[in-house]
Amino acid sequence: MTDHRPPPIPITRAIFDEAEAQAVAAVLASGWVVQGPQVAAFEDGFRHFTGLPEAVACTSCTTGLHLALLAEGVGPGDEVIVPAFTWVASANAVIYCGATPVLADVSPVTFNITAEEVERRRTPRTRAVMPVHLFGLAAEMGSILDVARRRSLAVVEDAACALGTLYCGRHVGTFGGGGAFSFHPRKAITTGEGGMYTTSDPGKARRARSLRDHGASKSDHARHGARGAALLPVFDKVGYNYRMTDLQAAVGVAQLGKLPGILADRIARAKRYDVLLAGVAGLIPPIEPEGHRHSYQSYVCRLETDGLDEAEIARGNAVRNQVMHALEEERIATRQGTHAVHALDYYARTFGYRPMDLPGAWAGDQLSLTLPLYAGMTDEEQDRVVERLIHHLTQAFRTADAR
Ligand SMILES: *Cc1c(COP(=O)(O)O)cnc(C)c1O
Repeated sequence: MTDHRPPPIPITRAIFDEAEAQAVAAVLASGWVVQGPQVAAFEDGFRHFTGLPEAVACTSCTTGLHLALLAEGVGPGDEVIVPAFTWVASANAVIYCGATPVLADVSPVTFNITAEEVERRRTPRTRAVMPVHLFGLAAEMGSILDVARRRSLAVVEDAACALGTLYCGRHVGTFGGGGAFSFHPRKAITTGEGGMYTTSDPGKARRARSLRDHGASKSDHARHGARGAALLPVFDKVGYNYRMTDLQAAVGVAQLGKLPGILADRIARAKRYDVLLAGVAGLIPPIEPEGHRHSYQSYVCRLETDGLDEAEIARGNAVRNQVMHALEEERIATRQGTHAVHALDYYARTFGYRPMDLPGAWAGDQLSLTLPLYAGMTDEEQDRVVERLIHHLTQAFRTADAR
């Protein structure tokens, strides 16, 4: 039997074609598949696109954040302020260093941390702050850098979602000591798994290159081309294996070629959502404040509630979940924006957090709604998302009012 339903609309879609297939085939044919010339080419292309001075490819944004924190000297006994509404990896990377993540609340409007929150969570042990540019919108770096300077805190940007994100006309990633980007398939471009540590300090970059390679003083590829005593690497510290492979990097180089088009397309789609959703009762679309360029890694709305007390959040959450479920039934994928880390079992248990300790983050967790967005999405697909969303929102608010 033929399926007469409209085709499914995914939350996002990676853009692969012959370019990636040929790039991978060429690496296989070369016989050198681990970190080598393709990783170097990917780093160069990344620096060229972003304008950032140093880029060190690694296995994920998570390991990139680990390298970035180590570069700032974060270690046991230190506290690092991390927003509570983010992917769990931001906080986990702090724990890898033996340090303690101190979760801070986020603005329910931008979903990002603020300078006031950094000030509020600061203690004598605070070593660093990790602003997250969530969903592709930069945190307010001006005021955050001011606090950091005043209080001598290192700044590490979680730029996982922020390839193409500008703040005051400058690409994010080196506003503080360093940052990290992700190439997971949910992000603008993908290498399957992959990440990039960025910094403007050549010394930090050099050390990160060594740490990603077991602490070796010379790369595998450089040793391979050398002779005699140079074949023996020097290991002067304990490092990790955080090396990206040339197979992944070759995909990354091909993806970088498409990045300007992908970003332009995503931004245009997001702006079209803004128009289509303007004035829809009960739904707050994402904002792009003055001085920002949002790269829309995700288009994340919030259910409107009458304030952010526990009962109102719960009421909005019931509406949100009903809408998500109804759209899923029609094969339109939606997701909550991300999770409230302080409400995740490990963090709640270890640090004794309760959901309403950080109401902005809890509201983000319970009320956020990510809509499908990808390069190549058609007007027809987008119109269907909006039409069905409005329909189910109206229904769900009616159900809620009847309770
Ligand atoms: C995706 C994401 C990460 C993790 O990136 P990986 O490359 O999967 O390690 C970290 N932080 C944020 C905010 C993310 O969205």
